[in-house]
Amino acid sequence: MSDLNRFRYTMESCNHCGQCKWILPHRMSGWDFAEVCPIHSHFGFDAYSGQGLINIAREVMEGRLERTDELAAMVQTCAGCGACDVNCKSVRDMEVLETIFELRRDLAETGHLPDACRRMAENVSAGRDPFGVPQAERFSWLPEDFREDPEADVALFAGCSAARDPAPVLAAMKILKAGGVPFRLMTEDERCCGAALWRSGQQSAAEKLVRHNADAFHRAGIRTVVTVCGECFGAFRSIYPRFGETEFRSVHISQIAADLILQGRLSFRRDLPPLTVTWHDPCMLGRLSEEYVPWEGEIRSYGLHVPEKHWNRGEFGVYREPRDVLAAIPGVETREMTRRMEEAWCCGYWSGLADPECAAATAGERVREARAAGAEVVVTSCPFCKTALSGGTDPLPVVDLAVLIAGRLA
Ligand code: SF4
Ligand code: SF4
Repeated sequence: MSDLNRFRYTMESCNHCGQCKWILPHRMSGWDFAEVCPIHSHFGFDAYSGQGLINIAREVMEGRLERTDELAAMVQTCAGCGACDVNCKSVRDMEVLETIFELRRDLAETGHLPDACRRMAENVSAGRDPFGVPQAERFSWLPEDFREDPEADVALFAGCSAARDPAPVLAAMKILKAGGVPFRLMTEDERCCGAALWRSGQQSAAEKLVRHNADAFHRAGIRTVVTVCGECFGAFRSIYPRFGETEFRSVHISQIAADLILQGRLSFRRDLPPLTVTWHDPCMLGRLSEEYVPWEGEIRSYGLHVPEKHWNRGEFGVYREPRDVLAAIPGVETREMTRRMEEAWCCGYWSGLADPECAAATAGERVREARAAGAEVVVTSCPFCKTALSGGTDPLPVVDLAVLIAGRLA
């Protein structure tokens, strides 16, 4: 059950400094591209920000604000990107994003949830993925001649999005094969990673998926789970440990590719046209992919946490490897966007469950930033980012990193 009181310290510690809305001053290159919170940028009210949402959580907890469907819809406009959280932690030690997720959980458990979020859990209960694809069709894209290595303790996790666009997973399979990495696919037992349910506040429904996948890895003797989707990667790192599921390690395909390139086990064609790209850091591959470390204890005066608490500040996400891989591909030149790494601007996809207009504005802003950086193509590693960034009125081409790598292998 949810317990907003666990985050009372965060709610009471906010000093309304506003850092959760802006990138750090020393990283600013002007007012343009200086905001970090997509919903604050779109709606222009403090309520729509990390600061506002934790204030709302406090009002709900203390009984001054009624739980309603309208409130739940407003809270779900937040993309859950965590930019507010890492920026707040540059000035204070508190858990802004955890508080927002606990508020969503509180609202969901009291029956207040937008229909689009509720439908995801209903789909899962009915044997489909959260987006409606039946389990029986999860691997329908798999080539008939695919042969896995039955002895491998490495599983390539396809993710739900492969059913809609299998190209990134097929590309990852090609990279693993080219690098001589034995792997398996969990064609019988793989289910949604659970991130979509978890981040919408439906923790119990997410837990069933977490337990199912972790149990399947255990029974199959899987020690390493390779992901292509940034969302799945972030789920394994930041959600599974909440349920004690830490027996396997998760690795993103960019990390494997970077290793293989260092070892000289991948080589690239040199006869393809040059390409100027920019790397869009998916939130769940970047700032939200640090391993969750549980903490229980006492918070004393001046915020002293006893025993000492581990704080995830977004610094140790997967930022270097995708950039190293892009730098190693002949003919590919990377231009950096102003907001990058732990301060990357979110694609906005998850805001779309509650407010498609806000999601579209967020994605449009990112495309504008990519264009300002001089990129012809946005490269990323998350199907949700790809969908969001490709969907606007004036999009740039968006390419999945694994697809780009596999397409340029010699
Ligand atoms: S950065 Fe943190 S302390 Fe400052 S206003 Fe935002 S939530 Fe409050
Ligand atoms: S998680 Fe992202 S969208 Fe939500 S309040 Fe924080 S910065 Fe804004």
